[in-house]
Amino acid sequence: MTEIKLYNTKTRKKGVFTPLDANNVRMYVCGPTVYDRAHIGNARPVVVFDTLYRLLRHVYGAEHVTYARNFTDVDDKINTKAAETGRSIRDITDETIGWYLDDMGALGAMEPDEAPRATEYIPQMIAMIEELILKGHAYAAEGHVLFAVDSWKEHYGKLSGRSVDDMIAGARVEVAPYKRNPMDFVMWKPSTDDQPGWESPWGYGRPGWHIECSAMARELFGERFDIHGGGLDLQFPHHENEIAQSCACCGEDTFAQVWMHNEMLQVEGKKMSKSLGNFFSVRDLLDQGYAGEVIRFVYLSTHYSKPMDWTDKKAKEAEATLRDWYRLLHTMNYTNDTVQTLKDTGQWKPHERVVEVLKNDLNTHQALVEVRVLSSTDLIPELAASLEFLGLVNDWDSLGQMASVGLGEYSGMDLSAFAELLTDARSVAMSTKNFAKVDELKAKLQAANIEVRMSKDGVELIPKADFDPEKLEGLL
Ligand code: AMP
Ligand code: ZN
Repeated sequence: MTEIKLYNTKTRKKGVFTPLDANNVRMYVCGPTVYDRAHIGNARPVVVFDTLYRLLRHVYGAEHVTYARNFTDVDDKINTKAAETGRSIRDITDETIGWYLDDMGALGAMEPDEAPRATEYIPQMIAMIEELILKGHAYAAEGHVLFAVDSWKEHYGKLSGRSVDDMIAGARVEVAPYKRNPMDFVMWKPSTDDQPGWESPWGYGRPGWHIECSAMARELFGERFDIHGGGLDLQFPHHENEIAQSCACCGEDTFAQVWMHNEMLQVEGKKMSKSLGNFFSVRDLLDQGYAGEVIRFVYLSTHYSKPMDWTDKKAKEAEATLRDWYRLLHTMNYTNDTVQTLKDTGQWKPHERVVEVLKNDLNTHQALVEVRVLSSTDLIPELAASLEFLGLVNDWDSLGQMASVGLGEYSGMDLSAFAELLTDARSVAMSTKNFAKVDELKAKLQAANIEVRMSKDGVELIPKADFDPEKLEGLL
């Protein structure tokens, strides 16, 4: 059996992944700050680490893998939204978490085993901050507690490959009178009465962002665990600060052994931004009619370590490809029941090639190539199991419906209107013996990539994978 190889940001090398304990493989991924719908960039780490989770479960056994992804539910952006809307913070964060789970579920993402909310781990954060103060790595000043970067100078910056001096020169650090070094970062800050807060040894206040992940990972996983993931934008300062806090508290070689970062997502070649009007949520895409599986396919088609471009063209191509695969499987009568039977009798295994390429630093691009190869063989059960393994089929009973993914309003009624048109033209032609009109109609339908079947029983129109509804305009 090939071993899993992963690129580790910490060592800047791809190496064999050896879990600390193969019976208890632990992965922590930084989750969203919950004040608004997740945008399509936020979904990239979700799909990437969901795919890794599936691979780990496949290799080590589902019961031996724990995946934790937090919800940051204390943050100034949430406070601002509460102030603007007059709603309570809990109301806003509960609603946003519900949206998040729905939207990510639509992308085939399994829910992590642990989904800690920051506000439920305040005592653990306070305890960790106290330990850091005792060990000389943190100090309290004016109601704040700061991490003293100078006390960790020889380690700080290793993950992101910068020295403290470079960071000071390049970073937009907040200079504050209570900081000993401008790079020192906040672990605790004072709250006013109208802000969320908790009593602490340093007064009424709330935690900084970085301490959340350090304290929650420690509580859930202990001082050492296997994989820590997130988007590349988190490498500095968030992950650098998590490492500083956790390792200064618990020991130099503690915390995550492997660090993984997904590159960023862009839209049509441009950075997403509200001002460019190319900023949209996963829900926007779903509402536009893109199936979650189609969105996931587009994500998987780019390796996680490369920048990814979301384009409509890619999404249309993904729709056409998935439609072909779903049709093929639909004709083979795959349903939840038949799949369960295959599982119960040990006949449900993703194809070895698909698993192998994923083991090579999660090469999802190549996994899709392997699935494409499978789809032109007679290894249909492996094709089916591979698609489920990659999260591209989540409900076999909806395969029939998914077989027309992307055909939208043209998938049903509207095509029957075209069939009727052709039937009528044919009846006229039968009596006039002039088939020119029928041939013309048929050619136009075929040009839109529709298979036209005419028999004495009637006319049947079957859209092909590259069906182009625009070519039908003006025909009715
Ligand atoms: P946030 O809620 O901003 O902390 O982000 C949640 C997750 O989404 C983090 O892992 C980020 O790194 C990731 N993320 C944010 N924007 C993008 C993007 N454009 N492309 C890929 N990942 C992103
Ligand atoms: Zn984090």
